Amino acid sequence: MAQTYYRKGFGLKRQIEGDLAKDYHSQLVDRIREGGHVLEVDDLTFRLAKEFGFCYGVDRAVEYAYESRTKFPDKRIHLVGEIIHNPHVNEKLEAMGVTIIRPGDDGQFDFSSVRPEDVVLIPAFGLRYADFQHLRGLGCVLVDTTCGSVLNVWKRVEQYARDGFTAVVHGKYFHEETKATTSQVTKHEGGRYIIVRDMGETELLCRFIQGEATVAQMQEAFGHKVSDGFDFARDLIRMGVANQTTMLASESLAIAERIAEALTERFGAAHLETHFRTFDTICSATQERQDAILELIEEPLDAMIVIGGYNSSNTNHLAKICTKKVTTYHISDSKCILPESGAVRYKPVDGTEEVQREDWLEGVKRIGITAGASTPNNKIGEAIERILETKGLVVPAQR
Ligand code: SF4
Repeated sequence: MAQTYYRKGFGLKRQIEGDLAKDYHSQLVDRIREGGHVLEVDDLTFRLAKEFGFCYGVDRAVEYAYESRTKFPDKRIHLVGEIIHNPHVNEKLEAMGVTIIRPGDDGQFDFSSVRPEDVVLIPAFGLRYADFQHLRGLGCVLVDTTCGSVLNVWKRVEQYARDGFTAVVHGKYFHEETKATTSQVTKHEGGRYIIVRDMGETELLCRFIQGEATVAQMQEAFGHKVSDGFDFARDLIRMGVANQTTMLASESLAIAERIAEALTERFGAAHLETHFRTFDTICSATQERQDAILELIEEPLDAMIVIGGYNSSNTNHLAKICTKKVTTYHISDSKCILPESGAVRYKPVDGTEEVQREDWLEGVKRIGITAGASTPNNKIGEAIERILETKGLVVPAQR
């Protein structure tokens, strides 16, 4: 029987190297890295975080997508949602003839256009179990780019379900990764999950465990982010904590501790093991980027530019960390820097809509730069060039 499921690529790296470099590489970023992550031009100093941009999971997903195009030049290729949260990368794939199947308003994918002879790419975030099963049933070729670190979370969550623990996932219920992760519990009869977004929601959950909140309050806050048939009184007795790989590491840790504390109060320290498990599933790439930014903002900076899709979880968290210390502009693309008017378009850290600020470079001499795990280096390089252009400067020739 012909092979229809691939998750290790096709060994065509050499053939696609040139295209990847053309689409995503930046000589300027290489130069800054080689120069100790600092670039000085006139009176402007740029400091680039030690870890930034494409992570191993994104590298791999993008490579497999390019390899798939080379391997199947004559086949129709579909992508379920976005390969990663970066508009530039998704547009490049569309330009290569990949069709993106976008979710409907109800969050469901319509696979009616997929034929058995087609190729379907599964993104780095993974795919809901039911969708995966459906596509397997169609018999099309599946190229699965789900990141290994995401699979690691699935293993934890599945283990919780197998052992009769409710999976408590620190994540965003609308995020592809969290949808895929929580769906893994459905592989086991009676598997259950609840998603908590932040410490505020965890507090309510813990007050319920401690008998201080009602089912009605829980229903209102969590009704849309629990497994089918969830019973708050029955299902919050044995709990296993995991997290979306790109959450704020410090918050994930605090959430697990708070839940352990509530369960200890209810059942006693001697019984905690029976009622509580936890596993830190923040991926190493997210951790390294968050650590690097904590180090960078210790430097004296006048402004911080964080580049990455507005729907990119890890980018939003980088911006959140920065904003505590320095004026921060989360931009989705280098084009958000507007040299003609001297303005910047950005998303405020706690906002949802993009806003514009005209005078953002006034008095700014020291600029920190980082980028989320789905931002290619050429977008970082272009952003720096556009900042220089705003000041009437250019990157000096290399000596
Ligand atoms: S952010 Fe982490 S989990 Fe997500 S693709 Fe990158 S390495 Fe994998």
